[in-house]
Amino acid sequence: MASYRIATIEGDGIGPEVTRAAIRVLSEACGAQHLDFVMLEGGAGHYARTGHVLPDDTFAACRDLDAVLHGAAGLPGIVYPDGTEVGNDLHLRLRFRLDLYANVRPVKLLPGVLSPLRAFEGGGIDYVIVRENTEGLYASRGAGVVLRGELASDTLVVTRKGTERVARFAFDLARTRNGAPRDGKRRVTVCDKANILRSYAFFRAVCDEVHAGYPDVAIDYAYADAITVHLLKRPDFYDVIVAENMFGDIISDLGAATAGGMGIAPSAEIGDRHGLFQGAHGSAPDIAGSDVASPVATILSGAMMLRWLAEARADPALVPAAERVEAAVGTVLREGSAVPHDLGGRAGCTEVTDAVCRALA
Ligand code: ATP
Ligand code: MG
Repeated sequence: MASYRIATIEGDGIGPEVTRAAIRVLSEACGAQHLDFVMLEGGAGHYARTGHVLPDDTFAACRDLDAVLHGAAGLPGIVYPDGTEVGNDLHLRLRFRLDLYANVRPVKLLPGVLSPLRAFEGGGIDYVIVRENTEGLYASRGAGVVLRGELASDTLVVTRKGTERVARFAFDLARTRNGAPRDGKRRVTVCDKANILRSYAFFRAVCDEVHAGYPDVAIDYAYADAITVHLLKRPDFYDVIVAENMFGDIISDLGAATAGGMGIAPSAEIGDRHGLFQGAHGSAPDIAGSDVASPVATILSGAMMLRWLAEARADPALVPAAERVEAAVGTVLREGSAVPHDLGGRAGCTEVTDAVCRALA
């Protein structure tokens, strides 16, 4: 196993607690000598102190090191001189400057975790949402207009290049996550509103074109409104879902809720050359600093980082390390040895992390 340098930004709110938790678990799983966590500054709090959200040396490290591990960014009440919120600008800037076009959000209900979908607690919720991360309706961020207090307008942008690359990513993922098709599933579902807006019809048409190169993967389509119903009633149908930016944002929160909530949902943002890993949740300032946050989402994002490095750096030795992390989290949740607050338990961030490290050993 080679050694890797990880650009690590704790960020704001619960970011530092959950990042440190992930560092402990990943170091334990890989052997500390294999992962070098290079600690970097950035975020809303850093802006308040220094006037910089994403310092140049932080960006350079994120660009040049092997991967980025991020806690979370954003604090209420910190604003730029023009009055707009700093929020999670750190994260958004990294997303665009590193061109992280595929936001990968696995939705998997683990044994021992309670779901509002009781019928699926024995299994069946295991799919991945691939959210287009660089265009769509959110491309309009900061560029929308309000006319004389009477009319507001934003622009939805779907490009061929942006759709082709995220669609290819989704079809490739459908292949790799199902070495042999599991339960007959090897399918990409395109989530859009092709019936209403031309840009979504274009998104669907480009996904269809890309699909021509993947005859071994099935394709189907779901309107964004309808899929919210299906994800509650038939989540077991889904394998990989590819969606425009805003739809992907919305359905991945819904999916996370069916699999135990934001404290458990991992996320990876992937481009052609870079990968950024952080829990799907934000900085949760309401619970920051009280050791209440669940570190599970960030720890599982760390496992995604190991799998991505294994692939990107052709280092298969990292796969067993990722599997060990996932198995240790699985053991803790299944046995209920340390149940985080947001899953109905009493274990804090430190206690959950201790339990995961014990399960690794
Ligand atoms: P963002 O704008 O970045 O998506 P958000 O405003 O949607 O952030 P989050 O920070 O994702 O908000 O979380 C919403 C709430 O969920 C938090 O206020 C917190 O109570 C809870 N929460 C989020 N993450 C965790 C966690 N890791 N452990 C426990 N509770 C969490
Ligand atoms: Mg949110």
